[in-house]
Amino acid sequence: MSLRTTAVTGEIESYINFNFLSEDTFLKNLLNEAAALNFPSISISPQQGAFLQFLLRAAGAKYVLEIGSLAGYSAITMAKVLPKDGKLISLEIEKSHAEFIRKKADEAGLGDIIEVVNEEAVNFLKSYRPPFQFDLIFIDADKESYPGYLNFSIQLLRKGGIVIADNALAWGLVCNDKPVEKNEEVKSIRKFNDAISSDKRLQSCLLTIGDGMAMGVKL
Ligand code: SAM
Repeated sequence: MSLRTTAVTGEIESYINFNFLSEDTFLKNLLNEAAALNFPSISISPQQGAFLQFLLRAAGAKYVLEIGSLAGYSAITMAKVLPKDGKLISLEIEKSHAEFIRKKADEAGLGDIIEVVNEEAVNFLKSYRPPFQFDLIFIDADKESYPGYLNFSIQLLRKGGIVIADNALAWGLVCNDKPVEKNEEVKSIRKFNDAISSDKRLQSCLLTIGDGMAMGVKL
């Protein structure tokens, strides 16, 4: 037993990657193409992708909602482990991102599973009443709206469904009280962490993978 989290050195990171990840050429090419189009390099890491796939399989997930698509790295990663009649709805505000991911989803043979909604997420979620409940909701868009996304997520999840958010460690600034460039974003992430960890409708935890993933299972 250990009361302390082991610091992940570069060597340990390489060890994890070597032993637990297999290179996905399609996704590697997708990131290269997105970089050539000047998309920001803010997709989840391959380790986080493997974790999301693990969760989806463990939950027997069929319906997934993603808030924040970018180039589709996380959406395609997740859709790959959904059943053929599964659905992944991905919300994305930028038209160029939405168009890129639709093209990539088709190329990956996942066009029937991935549906990209090119709308501002809060606006869309306010009146979204799908004919099913989600098994997993992945939050990875504007940080200021994270607390609001949590409320929508709890309404849209089935019992036993999982809500999971990236950047729960706020780029390492989650405990930093000094003013920083991303002050408002950091404050919102803290607010989100407080909300997800204290909400009685959820069992929650925070995993120190990537920039931290906070998650809750609906009770
Ligand atoms: N989940 C993606 C991945 O790992 O491959 C990365 C998503 S990136 C961190 C955040 C995305 O959210 C950007 O593409 C951005 O345009 C989108 N976004 C930001 N604010 C949004 C909003 N209010 N509604 C919908 N999408 C938004």
